[in-house]
Amino acid sequence: MDFLNLNKISEPYRKELVEAATEVINSGCYIRGEKCKEFEDLLCRYLGCNYVVGTGNGLDALKLIFRAYIEMGVMAEGDEVILPANTFIATMIAVTENRLNPVIADIDATTLNLDIDNIEKLITPRTKAIIPVHLYGRCCWSNQLKDIAHKYNLKIVEDNAQAMGAKSIVKGLNNSYMCGTLGDAAATSFYPVKNLGALGDGGAVTTNDAKLAEVVRALSNYGSEEKYIHKYVGINSRLDEIQAAMLCVKLKYLDIENRRRAEIAEQYDKNITNNKIIKPVLGENGECVWHQYVIRTENRNYLMQKLEEQGIPTMIHYPTPLHKHEAYKEYNTLHLPIAEKCATEILSLPINPAMSDDDVLMVAEVVNK
Ligand SMILES: *Cc1c(COP(=O)(O)O)cnc(C)c1O
Repeated sequence: MDFLNLNKISEPYRKELVEAATEVINSGCYIRGEKCKEFEDLLCRYLGCNYVVGTGNGLDALKLIFRAYIEMGVMAEGDEVILPANTFIATMIAVTENRLNPVIADIDATTLNLDIDNIEKLITPRTKAIIPVHLYGRCCWSNQLKDIAHKYNLKIVEDNAQAMGAKSIVKGLNNSYMCGTLGDAAATSFYPVKNLGALGDGGAVTTNDAKLAEVVRALSNYGSEEKYIHKYVGINSRLDEIQAAMLCVKLKYLDIENRRRAEIAEQYDKNITNNKIIKPVLGENGECVWHQYVIRTENRNYLMQKLEEQGIPTMIHYPTPLHKHEAYKEYNTLHLPIAEKCATEILSLPINPAMSDDDVLMVAEVVNK
């Protein structure tokens, strides 16, 4: 059994991918051509937002949002950004690379996402933004988050790398429900393993803010809106034509693939009956697109080993909370009890659209045993 076999996932639309790649090769235009525009338009329509700006990867997308806010005078060096302890390190790098100060918050043990109930006490006069990370594909949003952002005039920057297609159960700032359109801006990643993955690196900023989109687009192209006229000291981070073409194909299948992931999550929920295992809550109406299916148990390492012996691959997302990484020594003494405890208990079971029902039942059976 594979944890994730990207070759197998591409199988139903392999021919379309090859045709789309061939079309780009024959066009002779490989960066900043028609395909990138086409994909940006398709994703705008899919999400129901006004602007999508393709970038080289997800980290750059998130970095560029904060960089743009700095260029726009909304934030400045030393301002604080609240983010959850349980996330991929990119969320934090995007903050510190902009010389903003990350304020790492504890998580909610049920959702494993940012604990919104405990954000307010972290806010200081220098707080300028919150990053809800829709981790494992689970929407991290609430009316309370909106109220806090409004009360303290904070930007909400979603990290939507794992949740393309997921929906909130309460409206976002723009009255929409789709993750990636809930806050002021969102970053997403098309790294191949994501629910909407390219066949290489890619990312995007999604927003309804025209000015932000304009500045991000310029910054991602050497700070230039017009060839050889440079308004900012920008970077080079663009979504290339081949990846955009792959994504145009794959976006058509995203909802089907996400539905299959939800089916598998339901099968796990029904068939895993071992009371030593804490299962993720199912969520309703597409609130979770199941990038990962993460269980918790006190005997995590033992379970992981036993599953491996039976040929079932698992992973840990993530073994180290943000504040415990060697890269961020200055935060190592911080104590966030829930994130630290969960990091020793979480285990990601295989979940992906290419998995068969038999595989799912087999995993459940071995977990129960
Ligand atoms: C994948 C991921 C990123 C970074 O995306 P890249 O395209 O790999 O740079 C950021 N945040 C989260 C939560 C991710 O899962």
